[in-house]
Amino acid sequence: MKAILVHQFGGPEVLKLEDVPTPRPAAGQVLVRIHAAGVNPYDTYMRNGTYAVKPRLPYTPGSDGAGIVEAVGEGVNKVKPGDRVYTAKTVTGAYAEYALTLESQVHRLPAEMTYARGAGVWVPYGTAYHALYQCTRARAGETLLVHGASGGVGIASVQIGLAVGLVVLGTAGTEKGIELVRREGAHHVFNHTQSGYLEQIMKATGGRGADLILEMLANVNLGQDLKLLAPHGRVVVIGSRGDVTVSPHELMTRRASIHAFTLWGVTEAEENEIHAGLMAGLEKGTLRPVVGKELPLAEAPRAHKEILEPGAYGKIVLVP
Ligand code: NAP
Repeated sequence: MKAILVHQFGGPEVLKLEDVPTPRPAAGQVLVRIHAAGVNPYDTYMRNGTYAVKPRLPYTPGSDGAGIVEAVGEGVNKVKPGDRVYTAKTVTGAYAEYALTLESQVHRLPAEMTYARGAGVWVPYGTAYHALYQCTRARAGETLLVHGASGGVGIASVQIGLAVGLVVLGTAGTEKGIELVRREGAHHVFNHTQSGYLEQIMKATGGRGADLILEMLANVNLGQDLKLLAPHGRVVVIGSRGDVTVSPHELMTRRASIHAFTLWGVTEAEENEIHAGLMAGLEKGTLRPVVGKELPLAEAPRAHKEILEPGAYGKIVLVP
């Protein structure tokens, strides 16, 4: 089978399309024929060798795949060959024609959902769900600012926030991104590259501030986020690419708090709850991953460059 292999940590050019043996499922494992693989920013940090989780070389990237069960190992009864599934982590990597997973890592893909959308479920929606339900316990009627709403996690956060009954404010950096966030139903949308947008956000909350902020670029925004919080407000650091200085007084005067997590750290019980919650939304169509770009598997290096550039528009997926 064809698969992307990384033999040494480095830039996008270390992603090589190669022929490798198709894996066979051992007991408790599932072999999935991958029809689409989601590209996430963490794939690029891992490829660089700068991520907290460092795989043994060589490895195939990708946790988020969608496709059809090809074969199952002994003892597997959750799925059978022919079933449509999405993956949440894998054993051998999703940037490939086939991926081996544990039985617990495959989840039914609703009949109406395309594989490309299925490849946009786990990391983006799992992160948004954990941030809103498990981390901050968002309550209907609260005001949510999704700071970076045009990308994978941002769109998921907007959709989940609206489904829960939050007043949703979102930001994006391009007209196309702003249009997308607006179309997804955010009540107010702002351009995070324009001066004065923070004041506009405050104004849109009637001067009270946001109860919740999901932050995609904390090294740039966290200091300002604290000033945008309502009393008892919570910020969740989802993405950060460096250090930042904050004023603790902004937290003290509001009795506010900063939360942070990585999806790798969620417990098995939390993960089960996440998939059950997501399934309800995916089946009903309230959760609809947005696929902005589909590229052939061989173009993984291009996908890794583009995922880090400004102008996000939902998900980039690779098609084997
Ligand atoms: P993505 O699809 O590449 O989207 C990036 C988002 O950040 C876009 O909405 C982009 O907007 C926005 N952004 C760019 N500059 C910004 C600024 N100055 N202020 C606010 N937002 C800005 O990435 P993603 O998958 O949504 O992930 C977002 C971040 O969260 C990444 O850093 C990722 O590594 C991290 N993440 C963490 C976890 C976790 O477990 N903690 C899980 C998933 C993702 P424009 O392009 O429109 O400017």
